[in-house]
Amino acid sequence: MPIADKIAERIRNGGPISIAAFMTEAMFDPMEGYYATKNPIGAGEDFITAPAISQMFGELIGLWSAQVWMDMGQPKSFQLVELGPGTGQMMSDIVRAGRAIPGFLEAAQITLIEASAALKMVQGQTLTPMGVQASWVNRIENVPAGPAIILGNEFLDCLPVRQAVKQGDRWNERLVGLNEDGGFQFVMGPALGVEADLIPQRLRDLPDGTLVEFRPGDQQVVEALANRFADQPGRALFIDYGPASSEPGDTFQAIRQHQKTDPLDAPGTADLTARVDFEQLTHFAGTAGLEASGPVSQGTFLKALGIEMRAATLLQAKPDQKGRIARQLMRLIEPDQMGELFQVVTLSTPGLPKPPGFTANG
Ligand code: SAH
Repeated sequence: MPIADKIAERIRNGGPISIAAFMTEAMFDPMEGYYATKNPIGAGEDFITAPAISQMFGELIGLWSAQVWMDMGQPKSFQLVELGPGTGQMMSDIVRAGRAIPGFLEAAQITLIEASAALKMVQGQTLTPMGVQASWVNRIENVPAGPAIILGNEFLDCLPVRQAVKQGDRWNERLVGLNEDGGFQFVMGPALGVEADLIPQRLRDLPDGTLVEFRPGDQQVVEALANRFADQPGRALFIDYGPASSEPGDTFQAIRQHQKTDPLDAPGTADLTARVDFEQLTHFAGTAGLEASGPVSQGTFLKALGIEMRAATLLQAKPDQKGRIARQLMRLIEPDQMGELFQVVTLSTPGLPKPPGFTANG
């Protein structure tokens, strides 16, 4: 049964559903979900991400990870974990760059957390020929024990988001229901209960009618990290799109073939995301006992890690690709491209040295 029909039936039987539930069905239905059967990432597909733009991105994350491993005291064995690895491109660039660091890859146990069966296969096809022996698990709680470096690029933005609208001293949830023709439409639902605690503090006193988003999935990730890092040293790095401090507004969006489209139209055929709230993320982390660094903008982070020098070295090696490398660099760091829209944070066991890339000189 097409996903739209399944969701419509669920709404007819049980009433309107949260945007989070709509997203989960549309993206991860095991038969028809957006991610269930295909790889949507790449120039000819639906959307493109930093690792697909340039090898420099993953290489720098690889060197960043190696420095963090050293800052942890070079454990003989540690978990190198990626959340939502997509095509596996970033991990393959991490491994290529990591070969330059003695002992780093020998110590790394690579564990991938991926919900999509189709993408697991693509990840295997990318990594196996490089001699990488990766394992897959379904959730952070199932990552084998040990010190851990956990990476997620454009992972949090796919986690389910919910929306609410302020009315007096209540927050009514914005839900997905059906219109008279059986199509999907947004409807106002009942007031939130305890979930209202997830609404960012900064937005609570805004006037009536204000629409806010809150992200229960991010909070679950933070709690899983906090549980793990309480007795095993660890540092997680997240790179994603969203503002450094909480802002109101509807950012639930669908992307198909690189164009924005109606998020309620034809579920399962477009990528659904909403911006990450980095202020709320670091707030959750602090409450859970983690130490946060950032957010800093992606441009600042990559420059602090030396992306301009890396581009210059690549240019020398491949002078015929000058224009291409320059364009890739600009796309990753320029403020009007990904440089300012994307932010970077780390969430860590308290007391580790400050992570590289979070000060002007790296
Ligand atoms: N990091 C990659 C892919 C980003 S797309 C890149 O930068 O190119 C988001 C990825 O997260 C996909 O691999 C998707 O299948 C995965 N994903 C989304 N939600 C997930 C969840 N709850 N558990 C595991 N993987 C998830």
